Amino acid sequence: MKPLKLMNYAEGRWVAGSDLAPIPSAITGETVAETGSRGLDFAAMAAHARAKGGPALRAMTFHDRARMLKALATAIMERKEELYELSYSTGATRNDGWIDIEGGAGTLFSYSSMGRRELPNDTILADGPPVALSKKGTFAGQHVMTPLQGVALHINAFNFPVWGMLEKLGPTLLAGVPAIVKPASATAYLAEAAFRIMIETGVLPPGALQFIAGGVGDLFDHLTCQDAISFTGSASTAEKLQRHPTVTRESVRFIAERDSLNASVLGPDATPDQPEFDLFVKEVAREMTVKAGQKCTAIRRCFVPSNLIGAVGDAIAARLAKTVIGDPRAVGVTMGALVSQSQRDDVRKAVANIAIEAECIFGDPDRVDVKDADAKRGAFLSPILMRCCDPMTAERVHEVEAFGPVSTLMPYRNLDDAIALCNRGHGSLVMSLFTYDTDVAKRVVGGAGAYHGRVLINDRDCARESTGHGSPLPNLIHGGPGRAGGGEEMGGIRGVMHYMQRTAVQGSPRTLAAVANRWTPGAPIDDTPPHPFRLRFSELALGKTVVTKSRTITLDDIEHFAHFTGDTFYAHMDEEAAAANPFFPGRVAHGYLILSFAAGLFVDPAPGPVLANYGLDNLRFLKPVVPGDSIKVQLTAKSKSQRNDEYGEVKWDVLVTNQNDETVATYDLLTMNAI
Ligand code: NDP
Repeated sequence: MKPLKLMNYAEGRWVAGSDLAPIPSAITGETVAETGSRGLDFAAMAAHARAKGGPALRAMTFHDRARMLKALATAIMERKEELYELSYSTGATRNDGWIDIEGGAGTLFSYSSMGRRELPNDTILADGPPVALSKKGTFAGQHVMTPLQGVALHINAFNFPVWGMLEKLGPTLLAGVPAIVKPASATAYLAEAAFRIMIETGVLPPGALQFIAGGVGDLFDHLTCQDAISFTGSASTAEKLQRHPTVTRESVRFIAERDSLNASVLGPDATPDQPEFDLFVKEVAREMTVKAGQKCTAIRRCFVPSNLIGAVGDAIAARLAKTVIGDPRAVGVTMGALVSQSQRDDVRKAVANIAIEAECIFGDPDRVDVKDADAKRGAFLSPILMRCCDPMTAERVHEVEAFGPVSTLMPYRNLDDAIALCNRGHGSLVMSLFTYDTDVAKRVVGGAGAYHGRVLINDRDCARESTGHGSPLPNLIHGGPGRAGGGEEMGGIRGVMHYMQRTAVQGSPRTLAAVANRWTPGAPIDDTPPHPFRLRFSELALGKTVVTKSRTITLDDIEHFAHFTGDTFYAHMDEEAAAANPFFPGRVAHGYLILSFAAGLFVDPAPGPVLANYGLDNLRFLKPVVPGDSIKVQLTAKSKSQRNDEYGEVKWDVLVTNQNDETVATYDLLTMNAI
């Protein structure tokens, strides 16, 4: 088949590079594609992103951008078979491709959903509550996040060309920042195909996305303090790029996700008769063979109680023996090839290095049986299980990452040793622990948490639904300290913040409310008719308020409420016992009675645009209400978030005060209102 000629997407046009280099198929060694970026004007690409893409994205609200992500993800899913077809040439099985392609689309869908649920339909994001800065409340602070006004440069690894691109694009585009994507050359043809699908949707504003199918030329020289680099790959490249003089001078944000010597620990309680033993064996074998072990999160080091090392080694070897290696299209094949012969050579070198301190107990780096393929032409490698009997004095096992189906089994004497050994990775993306003993779990998290970005604790209760050691998830952080790069990706909305600037804004409550598009105490209210419950979502202005009349709470009310609900707690029913309580002067009204009476005071009962009360947040009872006290309520529209074409969520600030204007309760009430 004629090799694909990969194109760059620069300044809104598809352009071929003039320095085409071949990319070999992982399976046959034949050239699948040719790639190159010479001739691109990298400075103009950055300028195009800043001048066109940035302003267009920043003019969209978070919700607009979230809908755009959904359209991109939908398009990837609709055309996924085109991507699977190319994915086989990277050495990936259908299952590996699923993680990459559908996992990537799933991540975009998640960011789309988080954008609509957790972010406002606005262009500025309030970060946390207002901060009181003055006695009379006329001067306050508010942290806000605004999108960087530069470009995000995404430099991706070869192992997940689709997921790796989309997990960075989700947060970046949601933040409102344009991106230039530079995939790893070895699998750039798959990344280019997925990128092309996104461009062809037509939903991206001009300048929002560009693509470099080759080297980045002099692009780094043109970066500024408003740009961000998000890198995935080897530690040596990350260090080199991070030291670039422009990156240092301009404090260009640099998020790195690098190689990692991830560990898995079999807990001291997990003897062969316990379910956690089998779960551990299964997970280690799975992590070694999925994607032929080319996962930044794969288990490289396995620590087991020293008396179990023989049993564990036999059990893992027995599972690995079932691996069928070969052409990923062939029926029955469970593990494909490494991405290239040169990558396989690197893995063999790494195995030879580890072998100075460890023996090989399964597999042979130089021999592999393959199905429906030619072992000499494809980049196939047998799974290799090593065993190192003295991990405390060994060094290579904790430092050398064999980026393939390779793992080393090691004994530990006690849990403190196991924790110390995990931490010898000098910072990892993830570790896992297989235990049913919650004390063990707590000690490991306390002892190893500082060295790990994620800790998976697997046991018989969660195994069936567990997403596994190796799967980063959009709503959890992905990244780790030290050797793992010191960065964090995803983690829900945290990942969006990497592409935004946090600014502390100071001013009057009126100004801050307008900037953050969120009413805040001290900002003006409008308590003129009509009642706010008479207004549709689209008609309701923030600050719209109802101030109710007062209601006096009697002892009869308290007794009636107690018997009606069954809540006869002594603080409401027994004067002597209540008075002995340091919080109460005597019998007090139930908190829920205050809430119920508050609702009775502020509701406007007739059918109208308020569809449902669906909860309350941040409830605090600040002062007891005793029989004879009178309460009244101020209910103010605080923020709004449209959910769909029919309704939106309104958050109401509720302030309940007594006859002395003292606050007895505050909370945020949530309603769904018709558009
Ligand atoms: P590299 O660090 O060489 O490449 C990662 C990315 O950086 C690729 O897109 C690469 O592009 C790009 N790159 C390389 N040099 C430069 C440069 N000077 N300027 C700008 N971009 C550059 O890693 P590899 O993909 O070659 O893999 C090597 C090793 O890295 C693996 O064996 C493994 O140990 C580790 N790795 C770790 C991963 C992780 O997720 N933590 C993922 C993949 C690899 P190009 O491909 O065009 O050179």
